[in-house]
Amino acid sequence: MTATEIAIVGGGVIGTSIAYHLARRGASVTLVERDHLAAQASGASAGGVRQLGRDPREMPLAIASIARWRTIEDELEADVEFRMGGQLRVCEREEDAASRRESVNLHRALGVDIRFVEGEDLRQIAPDLAPGIQWGMYTDNDGQASAPLTTEAFGAAAERCGATIRTGVEVTRIVCERGRVTGIDTSAGPIACDWLVLAAGAWTVPLAHQLDVTLPITTMALQMMAVGPHAPVLAPTVGAVGRKLSLKQVPNGEFVIGGGWPGELDATGRRGTTRLASIRGSIEHSTAILPLLAGLPLARAWIGLEALCIDEVPILGSLPGTDNVTVAAGFSGHGFALSPIVGQLLSELILDGAPSIPLDAFGYDRFATLDPATPFPAGQAG
Ligand SMILES: Cc1cc2nc3c(=O)[nH]c(=O)nc-3n(C[C@H](O)[C@H](O)[C@H](O)COP(=O)(O)OP(=O)(O)OC[C@H]3O[C@@H](n4cnc5c(N)ncnc54)[C@H](O)[C@@H]3O)c2cc1C
Repeated sequence: MTATEIAIVGGGVIGTSIAYHLARRGASVTLVERDHLAAQASGASAGGVRQLGRDPREMPLAIASIARWRTIEDELEADVEFRMGGQLRVCEREEDAASRRESVNLHRALGVDIRFVEGEDLRQIAPDLAPGIQWGMYTDNDGQASAPLTTEAFGAAAERCGATIRTGVEVTRIVCERGRVTGIDTSAGPIACDWLVLAAGAWTVPLAHQLDVTLPITTMALQMMAVGPHAPVLAPTVGAVGRKLSLKQVPNGEFVIGGGWPGELDATGRRGTTRLASIRGSIEHSTAILPLLAGLPLARAWIGLEALCIDEVPILGSLPGTDNVTVAAGFSGHGFALSPIVGQLLSELILDGAPSIPLDAFGYDRFATLDPATPFPAGQAG
């Protein structure tokens, strides 16, 4: 049997970030991934790095994460295609403009550097918007990066710091004795551990079940598409009030379009298939905002399977009934942006007993009074 101080299940951007942050502090870490790194949500992600439009509980993490993103490529010694292109949320109707002004004030009160933009100011930020669009809220402190490249970079940096990453190995059973996890059984044999981190995305739910914990997380199939390429014309990521839209132009010139359009989850629960209606909806909403997209060919459409938490905020921290398990799951379509800070804070929680930014609002205990009949929300991405 092999042994490690800390075992991590899941080689997405969250598991690899946790592995890196633990290993750089000298912990003995083994990450186990049943497929390859970034095989699920982290491989399908649109890669938006945003503070704008977050749940207020997430705002301190989002702001701290942005600070980490600014230097992440130097730190990880990798090109992850990070660009600080800004974030613009436009409104097409004058009556929505008033609510955006209020939203700007709310964001500012939470510490986000953001402004209301209109007229010429708006055109300078995004010259090719549809002519009727007059208003928006804008921050130049949001950006984008490649989620698969970031996941691989965290994984490689973790290995340089001494972590072991085992891909193609599935965790099949958690071994628990008198409230303490002592190891995991895997498709490649048992691994003894002193601490277990569950960062298995949507599949954290069956793992937590083995510890008699029901996580209020379901799997959502999110659909994305890319059109183009086109010469560079759009720096910020663009959303629109009242529309399912997250639109960005990526370094290869393609426009990546999402915003919470649903795909189909297949019977295996590990794959999804695209829906024509979602492609049509994406085209309709994106071309209404950026008309030049209408002339571009569809490059591809794809699905990502994401863990949707019932209140659309992740669960970060310990699980009831065990002394040495940490969970990081339920990122609900916006976990990529938080990945640097989540890795850092969970490593602090595990190694120091307390994170430098409190994680109380993310604890599993917030669901103590949850009515089991509460419906899941539709879910957004970006
Ligand atoms: C289409 C789409 C667009 C998105 N766009 C954005 C965006 O623009 N901005 C943003 O911030 N966020 C975005 N997100 C969300 C973000 O990508 C996710 O929150 C994040 O990638 C979750 O990472 P993870 O590591 O928790 O999960 P995952 O990436 O799903 O990783 C979990 C891993 O665990 C492995 N695993 C599961 N069970 C086991 C087991 N038993 N044994 C071993 N391994 C196991 C899986 O194979 C998988 O690789 C988007 C998500 C999707 C799907």
